Amino acid sequence: MKVCIKTAGVTSRKLYKKLKQEKDIMVVSFTDNDTNKWGECIDGIPVESALSAVEKYKAGELEKIVIGTEMPVKICRSMYKELMEIGFAQKDILFLSIDYLKGDRKERTFMTYENFNYLQYLEFHLTNRCNLDCAGCSHFVPLIPNEEEIDFDDLKKGLLRLKEVVAHISVIRIMGGEPLLSPHLAECCLLVRKLYPHARIAIATNGSLADKKIQGELADTLKRENIALDITCYPVFYEKYDSIAAFLKRNQLNFYMDVRWGMCPVLHADNEHKFRHDTVELTCECINLYKGRLYPCPLLAFIPYFNRHFNQNYPEDKGVDLYEISSFYEMYCSLFKVRALCDHCDNYEMFSSRNRNEFKSYRKDMGMDDWIQDYK
Ligand code: SF4
Ligand code: SF4
Repeated sequence: MKVCIKTAGVTSRKLYKKLKQEKDIMVVSFTDNDTNKWGECIDGIPVESALSAVEKYKAGELEKIVIGTEMPVKICRSMYKELMEIGFAQKDILFLSIDYLKGDRKERTFMTYENFNYLQYLEFHLTNRCNLDCAGCSHFVPLIPNEEEIDFDDLKKGLLRLKEVVAHISVIRIMGGEPLLSPHLAECCLLVRKLYPHARIAIATNGSLADKKIQGELADTLKRENIALDITCYPVFYEKYDSIAAFLKRNQLNFYMDVRWGMCPVLHADNEHKFRHDTVELTCECINLYKGRLYPCPLLAFIPYFNRHFNQNYPEDKGVDLYEISSFYEMYCSLFKVRALCDHCDNYEMFSSRNRNEFKSYRKDMGMDDWIQDYK
């Protein structure tokens, strides 16, 4: 089989070394969007533009084009779309499995797009409890009643089922609430690492409890399993973060700090702000696992709590039941459908710095407006 390798960077060179050992495969070119690489050779094999590769494909000089999956899944998917647009047939664009590339598995597995059961991103609540009550919390945590705490056995079951459907995820974030409050954090980290050995795994935390909670078994687990802390620094704890950073450095833990100075409202009061895309796939990839269901974003997963707390009727959605779907492709297609709530949503623009509300973390002050974009 004559193949072209998509991209000519470090991971693709590694992929080439693997394929070179396969007797039935002949690599005839690399293709890369970096114009500086065109005309170069790797082990005597030319690097060319995608348009030049598609000409060879149409002339029968190459049969398949291969995308290595050590790159982030969203990049793999956008490469696929580009190749489809310029003339490669769906069946001739192949993804090479990450476990083969990483050396976990000797037999190579090629996947067509329909079988490419990898996700870019997943997050889930390990607990619904938090030591802050941020007005405008994009996961509506202060509005979740106490009796709705996460059942860890259910969560484990959901993650095991997820692995049956989704083979690899680029980035997984263990969230809350405040995950450092959970007694199951070390066990959860171990399980997620076992299920997804090649993911970037991080604990999303406000960091305020890091020095108290990350000790002993938990500290060892984070180091051994290469699990990072993604810390959002909230104003109420600003003066603590220098000492927390020093503690984490002393303990050789990986962490990132992002300073939050205000909260972004996630909702429009009306549905006049029409969502303008056919799918939410390219705009909203904040997939949430909650109670055995997948949602494309936290807003869809947790809006029922906002509705119940403030007696509102924003459109709700059941997400995708992991126990009812029969294939990854079926799950993927229904996960990214546009929902009625999307017309009320300001969430996918929340990282733009405009229109942040002043930070408040006192439950008694909280009102519905803390979650709603005010254009006045
Ligand atoms: S710290 Fe995070 S999870 Fe907790 S209430 Fe604030 S925004 Fe929500
Ligand atoms: S509700 Fe918002 S963030 Fe969620 S899928 Fe729709 S547009 Fe995206």
